Amino acid sequence: MITRFAPSPTGPLHLGHAFSALTGFDRARAAGGTFLLRMEDIDRARSKPDWERLIVEDLHWLGLDWPTPVRRQSDHLDDFEAALARLADAGLVYPCSCTRGDIRAALSAPQEGAPMVGPDGILYPGTCRGRPMASRREGDALRLDMARAVEALPAGGLSFFESGPEQCGSHRVTAESLVEGTGDIVLERRQTGEVAYHLAVVVDDALQGVTEVVRGVDLFAATPVQVLLGTLLGHNIPQYHHHRLIRDERGRRLAKRDDARSLRTYRAEGLTPSDIRAKVGL
Ligand code: GLU
Repeated sequence: MITRFAPSPTGPLHLGHAFSALTGFDRARAAGGTFLLRMEDIDRARSKPDWERLIVEDLHWLGLDWPTPVRRQSDHLDDFEAALARLADAGLVYPCSCTRGDIRAALSAPQEGAPMVGPDGILYPGTCRGRPMASRREGDALRLDMARAVEALPAGGLSFFESGPEQCGSHRVTAESLVEGTGDIVLERRQTGEVAYHLAVVVDDALQGVTEVVRGVDLFAATPVQVLLGTLLGHNIPQYHHHRLIRDERGRRLAKRDDARSLRTYRAEGLTPSDIRAKVGL
């Protein structure tokens, strides 16, 4: 069993991150498996080495350890490009020049009805679908042609196994749900050329041999499209364990701006790692 905690170094860790990391670490220990740390720093504008240092410090303080060197996404951009090239060679990718404004305008046409929202935001109306890769211009995004992608799937669709408490069991992913509920997701961003989260996470999990993805239940809805990408790339599909979210007293999930609940603040106030475990209900 290999699992991972994959924070983005864009701010201090809070109680929600502590719960996620501890859940993964405890599950790995119970199974005699391995807990990995991975830095998801493809968002170059927001990721900072200082946050990365603080994350490592906080996690060590909590009593966690992991094999080194830690995989940092920005050190392995070639792996993402190779995965994108495989999807493009299979005819599943097209360039797209649409801005958010273009997408909104296309969707506000009178015949369109209310826009559908999937795990990647508003469903893309398909304006650039069918453009050949050779027509790619500088600054274009790359999108997955979902209707083509699902043609490669077995008749019954795909499935994945969830061991988390809220959605425990086997889940089916059908071609219709992907085409109608997810649509043509971005694989590489406009202007920045950064690889999109869904693709990066799937490639990294496969390259690190992750067998169980432990993360918050807010990412449950992103799982079908990630299972699809893993299947298209010929990966072994991991199991998933989506855990509950830690919320503040008003029921809102914690965010990086909640510095009052950051681990560094609790550390400075003299709390111990067992106090943190108790606070998150472990
Ligand atoms: N880097 C993502 C986050 O901080 C985690 C993604 C994942 O665990 O799949 O939300």
